[in-house]
Amino acid sequence: MTFELLQQQMDTLRVLRGADDNMGDIMVVGGGISGIQAALDLSSAGYKVYLVEKSPTIGGKMSQLDKTFPTNDCSMCIESPKFIETDRQPNIELMTYTDVDAVEGEPGDFTVTLLKKPRYVDENKCTGCTVCVEYCPAKIPDPFNQNLSQNKAVHIYFSQAVPLVTYIDESCLFLKDKTCSICQTVCENHAIDFGQKAEKVKVKVGAIILAAGYETFDPLPRNDYGYGKFANVVTSMDFERLLCSTGPHEGQILRPRTRSIRTRSPGSTASARVRSIRPEATAIAPPSAARTRRSR
Ligand SMILES: Cc1cc2nc3c(=O)[nH]c(=O)nc-3n(C[C@H](O)[C@H](O)[C@H](O)COP(=O)(O)OP(=O)(O)OC[C@H]3O[C@@H](n4cnc5c(N)ncnc54)[C@H](O)[C@@H]3O)c2cc1C
Ligand code: SF4
Ligand code: SF4
Repeated sequence: MTFELLQQQMDTLRVLRGADDNMGDIMVVGGGISGIQAALDLSSAGYKVYLVEKSPTIGGKMSQLDKTFPTNDCSMCIESPKFIETDRQPNIELMTYTDVDAVEGEPGDFTVTLLKKPRYVDENKCTGCTVCVEYCPAKIPDPFNQNLSQNKAVHIYFSQAVPLVTYIDESCLFLKDKTCSICQTVCENHAIDFGQKAEKVKVKVGAIILAAGYETFDPLPRNDYGYGKFANVVTSMDFERLLCSTGPHEGQILRPRTRSIRTRSPGSTASARVRSIRPEATAIAPPSAARTRRSR
């Protein structure tokens, strides 16, 4: 359905049902670039939009990319101003860390049951100061960096996240066996809340846009090209993170296994891309701080 057609149908619904009826509201499922843009367009046309994202932040796959075709602009430079716009748009209600549980009804009259997962952090109290992150002793593979580096059990998903608040991963020592509660002690804003439970929320809307995007192929089960066995065999998404200045090697193009710079002719697509896109990368400084490589 085109945007214009959807707009016409929602306008008709509003007239039929009266201005106060929430059947003219719209739910966008998926907070990647597609869902964000849909939510911004609809909200600026006057519609109330529920933007539902299952991750702790909006952004989707585009937030993980380094530079993007065709302009070769920094991906985050294009996307993050839209994060802010989404956050500030009064017609958008942002529901992160929330999945769709059930949908009932028909076009014009949907009831959506959402499952709000516990962040264990009160979004209204957390200022994103990251003091808790500093003190947390539990390290986990960082999903934003494709598990190529480590992060803490409590962390902000990435620096430009919206909402800019922490969440606590299930590997937290309190959640596992209650052997730690440091974050609760150090948080001056009393934002840590281990009492949070998964919560079901019902929302009535007239239309739903599915912008759930895609999952990248996981070569691990098939062991293609020795992925998982050889640390230097990476997927294209791994490689995006390896290229990125916010990635596991802070933009230095290093081979994951040895964290060294490849000097001989490339033997894989990945290193070929290093040479074609970033010729200067082979001449940059040697690795500084030791970074942790995923265990495979
Ligand atoms: C390695 C690589 C390089 C790329 N390079 C480029 C490039 O240079 N230029 C270019 O134009 N494109 C590029 N792309 C493609 C681009 O990344 C995608 O087209 C774009 O990010 C898709 O955005 P999306 O919002 O549709 O989906 P996604 O980014 O996948 O977002 C979907 C969102 O929906 C959420 N979601 C899914 N299911 C649910 C649910 N049930 N409830 C709530 N939320 C849900 C997900 O968590 C996710 O955040 C590249 C892709 C890859 C993999
Ligand atoms: S939970 Fe507390 S300490 Fe952690 S980032 Fe939020 S406000 Fe700061
Ligand atoms: S309670 Fe969990 S999240 Fe908090 S500091 Fe300890 S391990 Fe980290």
